[in-house]
Amino acid sequence: MDLYEHQARELFEEHGIPVPRAEVTDSPKRAREIARGLGGRVVVKAQVKTGGRGKAGGVKLAADPAAAEITARQILGMDIKGHTVGKVMLAQPVDIESEFYVSYVLDRAAGRFLAIASAEGGMEIEEVAAARPEAVARVHIDPAVGVTSAKAAEIAAAAGLPPQTVDVLVRLWEVLVREDAVLVEVNPLVRTEQGRILALDGKVTLDDNARFRQARWGTEGAAHDDPLEAAAAEKGLNYVKLDGEVGIIGNGAGLVMSTLDVVAGCGARPANFLDIGGGASAQIMADGLSVILSDPAVKSVFVNVFGGITACDAVADGIVRALDTVRLTKPLVVRLDGNNAARGRAILDEHAHPLVQQVTTMDGAARRAAQLATTA
Ligand code: GDP
Ligand code: MN
Repeated sequence: MDLYEHQARELFEEHGIPVPRAEVTDSPKRAREIARGLGGRVVVKAQVKTGGRGKAGGVKLAADPAAAEITARQILGMDIKGHTVGKVMLAQPVDIESEFYVSYVLDRAAGRFLAIASAEGGMEIEEVAAARPEAVARVHIDPAVGVTSAKAAEIAAAAGLPPQTVDVLVRLWEVLVREDAVLVEVNPLVRTEQGRILALDGKVTLDDNARFRQARWGTEGAAHDDPLEAAAAEKGLNYVKLDGEVGIIGNGAGLVMSTLDVVAGCGARPANFLDIGGGASAQIMADGLSVILSDPAVKSVFVNVFGGITACDAVADGIVRALDTVRLTKPLVVRLDGNNAARGRAILDEHAHPLVQQVTTMDGAARRAAQLATTA
């Protein structure tokens, strides 16, 4: 589970990492009062669980409390990469001298944590890593030892960060360990004109397996901020909202993950994905399709099923009966393979829905779905 920036900020503050004074609200009127309390000039920041808010217009400076109210009204309700802004954080602005990047992330392959740090913060770290890989330091951390002062000094030196950041690096590790996080990221960590080190933005991903001992975030915090994710969870569906335009339904996590890759490889971006697991009932298909189709970003839907214990004819049956209850509004590309594929395909052929097309290979079907989505 990802935390909001203001929640990450709260954790940083509790662990002694310097952060700007800030407060969060969902009301423009209240934003004005908060701005007054913070000294007038504030940065108004959209609270959504996605990065790149600055570029999307979700981070704006307001010169006074009246401007803060107007800016908050503009940002609240804004759509940022498919996330609707429900709250804004108002923060005391700081004069930035330099921006750095630091994060700790679980490196499952290495069985260790990885510190990633750069003296070139502020931008997306992927872009820095692509353009100037030598500007991004990577230092492995033995989880049994953690980030000691010596380790923090090693990370800072490797990235070219000033020595004053060492204390923050140690405390950030404490956030990761004490709060059961699998990722903590500060971008930017800044040095102000006055020489203070401050965390201006924060991302924390908590380990869902540890949720039982992090009760403060509650179940609703963990739950789905996206209304469609919430609706899907209620129906017991495994649905995740993404940023693109191709809706994806598949059976089994592995197949669904590779479907995302193949669609991306065809030049389109997945809008979401839904894993129907071993369920092929008409009810599951109908629920799944209605969730996927009610996402306005979806331009085409790709159903990718490899029949195993759940045979393709059962899936095809499910699709046909789902189409009785759900009005199909976007093209549906179906690829059936595996157990009883021929029978499944015949069922869909017979039904001959004008918006349903079948392609027998995964690559071909992904290409078709991508094409339909990008030309729609
Ligand atoms: P993100 O775009 O979602 O990563 O949002 P950030 O919180 O990182 O804000 C984007 C950018 O806005 C930062 O990299 C800073 O350059 C800038 N920014 C944020 N807060 C302040 C501030 O208090 N003062 C100044 N000068 N710039 C800020
Ligand atoms: Mn940022």
